Amino acid sequence: MQCTFCPRNCKVNRTEQAGFCRVKGLTIARVGIHEWEEPCISGTRGSGTIFFSGCNLRCIFCQNDTISRSAYGCEISVDTLGKLMLYQQSVGAENINLVSPTQFTGQIAEALAKYKPQIKIPVVYNSNGYESVEQLRRLEGLVDVYLPDLKYADNSLAVEYSSVPNYFDMATAAIAEMKRQRPKNVFVNGMLRRGVIVRHLVLPGNLDNSKRVLDYLASYDRNIYVSLMAQYFPTADVKSHPLLGRTITQDEYDEISAYFKQCGLHNGYFQELSSNSEEYVPDWSLERLDEIIKKV
Ligand code: SF4
Repeated sequence: MQCTFCPRNCKVNRTEQAGFCRVKGLTIARVGIHEWEEPCISGTRGSGTIFFSGCNLRCIFCQNDTISRSAYGCEISVDTLGKLMLYQQSVGAENINLVSPTQFTGQIAEALAKYKPQIKIPVVYNSNGYESVEQLRRLEGLVDVYLPDLKYADNSLAVEYSSVPNYFDMATAAIAEMKRQRPKNVFVNGMLRRGVIVRHLVLPGNLDNSKRVLDYLASYDRNIYVSLMAQYFPTADVKSHPLLGRTITQDEYDEISAYFKQCGLHNGYFQELSSNSEEYVPDWSLERLDEIIKKV
């Protein structure tokens, strides 16, 4: 197989070699319940996350760098992935939340094709937005909720911060495909059953980028749901970066929240600034993951 799972199109044989995303076989780093997603995703019982290892971006500020920069985690089969989805359902998770899934779209489509009929809770595809439209089409009818990022409005900022070409063009095309598949957000008792929420992480000193992202989203569809995230914290790698070396201020977040309304958006979620702490980064211990894998 020559990998074309994402717009990098590395065309490497992933059974033998890792591509830009640094992972070969299907590798996961965590299975757990996550309580700090948007209220319509976490609900009262928490979101059933499955975190995938590796990443097709290289964000210098990555908040999950332990798992994104290597194949850290456990390699599993497609069948085990399907069984882990059923496990999350059996422990009462509100949904199955596939986090950083892009580098394994093929295996995810395969697992869902087999296990989706047994899954009664929503399947959430939680991605950085750098997706191939062709690959997303393989997930049509299998994914209920898309949770893509739109990180940058400016391709050159995406190159500088995430080493990724054409990010804006690829991510906006991906969002359009996600909206085509799930055009309307459907809520049941406050929980999102089907639909799309676009996430944007506000970066310190980069308010112009955030405003342009919001301008784009408002011009694309002023009814689109947008989650404006305040949880950025500087990792060790960017502690001395002139802009990224601090958390965002309340004034910065207030300015972007006000702009959200000014540009015509009206469906969305806002975060408390107190979420910008390393404490909210999940525990990546592999012992518990191993125990869960053995159970399924
Ligand atoms: S998923 Fe990984 S190997 Fe495949 S095209 Fe993307 S970066 Fe390259």
